[in-house]
Amino acid sequence: MPINNFITSSFENTTGFAIMTDNYGKVYLVGSGPGDPELLTLKARRLIDSADVVIYDQLPGEAILSSIPQKAEKIDAGKYAGDHTLSQDRINELIVEKAKEGKMIVRLKGGDPYVFGRGGEEGQELVKAGIGFEIVPGITSAISAPAYAGIPVTHRDHASMVTFITGHEDPTKEESGLDWETLAKFPGTIVILMGVKMLERNVNELMRHGKDPSTPIALIERGTRPDQRVTVGTLENIVALKKERKVKTPAITIIGDVVKLHDELGEQFPGRS
Ligand code: SAH
Repeated sequence: MPINNFITSSFENTTGFAIMTDNYGKVYLVGSGPGDPELLTLKARRLIDSADVVIYDQLPGEAILSSIPQKAEKIDAGKYAGDHTLSQDRINELIVEKAKEGKMIVRLKGGDPYVFGRGGEEGQELVKAGIGFEIVPGITSAISAPAYAGIPVTHRDHASMVTFITGHEDPTKEESGLDWETLAKFPGTIVILMGVKMLERNVNELMRHGKDPSTPIALIERGTRPDQRVTVGTLENIVALKKERKVKTPAITIIGDVVKLHDELGEQFPGRS
């Protein structure tokens, strides 16, 4: 598929009129995968290599970020937006602004853009602004970090269901929107993203609602990267282990019997506990 800086896009707005945006560029919401550059899709690689502008944050990791060609304008969305809690609005504005200049833009996001990546919101903003965009899914850290740690998220003998939840590290949210009672009863694997900071609350809620304190749990830091590190424990002792080992974000938390497979399947991978 040829890449064109002046891709025509049309769509129906709420009044039924098609809005033509011939001079606008196109935006690709691209997932970078979890960090191992070989887990970048071919499509992501091709688009990154031909982009006029790449807007990124730090989650894709150094190996991938340093592979963005010199010729592209590189914008660190994290730095651009500062620490302000409304930073997502600034990023959305920036993407729209650049697209209106007729540029071909790659908005590069860690893992998969639509898995806790706010990619959906960015897509909605683009639709609202009449800018054509395409989603390029990436390999989410939710399955790949456990995989590199030797932990399949499902397994016939251990779990036939899996659920992905956010640990709510969003500083603007004080209350957890999660139904801990249901989660404590969930008979499958629970994968938590953004769960490092609130680990203590999360495991306490699960135990308070009846989850067995001896349930296995793993924390996988910097999954799929050369310095991946895995910490394995139980709901009861993981908070102490986290402190002892100074576990830091980004990390995936995975809870359930599948964690037991780490010893058998995680052998050949880096970062064994
Ligand atoms: N869209 C991303 C998730 C963004 S939310 C994806 O699909 O992977 C940010 C959270 O993702 C982090 O707090 C962490 O829980 C997780 N994460 C992303 N990359 C990771 C990695 N390489 N290793 C461990 N966790 C990672």
